[in-house]
Order: sequence, then C-alpha cells, then structure tokens
Amino acid sequence: MIIDTHCHVWDEETISDELRGILIATAEKFNFDLSLILNATPDRLIKEMDEAGIDKAVILALDYEYLFRGHMSYKEYNDKVAGYVKDFPDRLIGLAGIDPRRGKEAIQELERSIGELGFAGVKLWPLMGFYPDDPKFYPFYERVEELGAVILCHTGSGPQKTYLKHCRPAYVDTVAVDFPKIKIIMAHMGEPWTNEAITVAGKNPNVYIDISAWESIFKFAPFDFFQTLVKAKMTCGIDKILFGTDWPLFSPILSLERWVKGIKEMELPSPLKLRRLPEFNEEEKNKILGGNAAKIFDL
Ligand SMILES: [Zn+2]
Repeated sequence: MIIDTHCHVWDEETISDELRGILIATAEKFNFDLSLILNATPDRLIKEMDEAGIDKAVILALDYEYLFRGHMSYKEYNDKVAGYVKDFPDRLIGLAGIDPRRGKEAIQELERSIGELGFAGVKLWPLMGFYPDDPKFYPFYERVEELGAVILCHTGSGPQKTYLKHCRPAYVDTVAVDFPKIKIIMAHMGEPWTNEAITVAGKNPNVYIDISAWESIFKFAPFDFFQTLVKAKMTCGIDKILFGTDWPLFSPILSLERWVKGIKEMELPSPLKLRRLPEFNEEEKNKILGGNAAKIFDL
C-alpha cells in the first residue's frame, strides 16, 4: 500500500488572500505554472494519485487565522476537508487544522473533529507563531492522547510572512517526551534542521518524519537527499520514515508519479555506493512508501 502522508487541498474559498498572494509570489519566483499550485481540488488529487499508484493520502486542513484572515473560519475549513474525506472515504484520511492557542475552544474543536467529523488527528502549524511545547497547550495534548489522535506537526522552513523560529524539531521533542502515547509526525524531516529532526525521531519511539517537500532536493541535489535518507535510516530506523509530497506545492517540480517512482527505484549515488553503504531493499522501500504510515493510521 502506498500512502502519501502530507497533502493539502484548497480552493479560492478555503485559502486566504494573503496565503494566495504568498503562493503566487512563490510561483513567480521559481517560474512555476501557477494553476498547478492554486487549483488543488480533491478530484485532481485523486487523479494524480491514480497515475502514481498511491492508495491513500492524508489531507491537512489549516488553521491560519492567527496570522492571515480567511474567507472562511478554521472550523468551516475543517468541515470542508471532512466533506472531501466523506466523498473519497477509501482514498483520503483527514487531519483537522487547529491552533492550540485557542485554549478551551481548541479542545472542543478537537473533540468535534475526531468524534463528529471523522478526522484521524490534528495538523499543527507552528509557522503561525507558537511553540508546540508551550505548557499552556498541555490540556490540549492530554485530550489528543485520550482520543488516540495522531499529530502531524510542521517542522522546518516555510513561506514568507510566517515565523521560522517556532519550527525547530527540538520543541516537538518536549511534547513527545511528556506525551509518549501520542504518535507525532514531524513534517519535511525538519529541513533545514534535518539532523535535529532525525535525532528527535531517533530518541523518541513515538516520533516519525515525513519526506514531503524534499522533491526539489531529490531532483536537483540527489546526493544530499540520499545521504540524509541513509542517515535517517541509521539513526531513527527505517520504521520512522514516511513518504509524503506536500501536494500541490511541489507538483510543478516533480509529479506524484515521478516521486513515487523515484523512491521505488532509488539506488544510492556512486559516492555513497563507494562507501559501501547498503542500498534500500524492497522491504525498506515499501515501509517508507506506506507500510509505516499504515501502522500509524491503523489501516
Ligand atoms: Zn504542508
């Protein structure tokens, strides 16, 4: 089973004007086809999953209201993403977007998201300006733990007008230690704090890393990608590494189909071969592509 653990689905209604502006600026900077980034509908996602042979994708709602004003509230965004999951129940898994600074309201929305909307967990987006390990959020995490919800937490870099300093993997470490029953996925292998992310995932049995947003490094600096992946395997173990894309953001660089194929057919570049590092075998590739995620999401 192939599972993409990190996708976004949005349209003109769900995305705020400011976020849209950031996406447009990014597309212009890198000369991307803008329509591939802005037009992120579930129908298109399913079509591209089919082309790539991806069985299931985790789609993330976003709570960006502390930083950007939206056309719809974060609850309406959660409703909308839950509706997409209901449209494709065999293909999509949803995570709610909730900013834990909402306090009691965050806990209520978490309960509604898991209990009523059928989400598997929650996406945290510290780029909006909070440290994940703020003690004020502990009642929220207690409820996450009780509900058996999965956390996917952004770590690493982000777009302009968002706050980087909150996104170091070390802040996730605190939460992982204090709430050992919560399964936490750290997005993007924490890039550029990749060593830190690998260390945190290596020391905590409940922490995982996804390789979403590494498409450009895979394509343009493959040595760096493979060296990191080998290091992750050696430090965290193969069971901690999850396939992901950050769809639609990197689709102009590498299609889902080519990213899946890249992992399926990966061979170490010759300088790593010369060091006699072991190749990723079929079983290990299958774990990255979906076996590990299937366990996290009880599939
Ligand atoms: Zn993302």
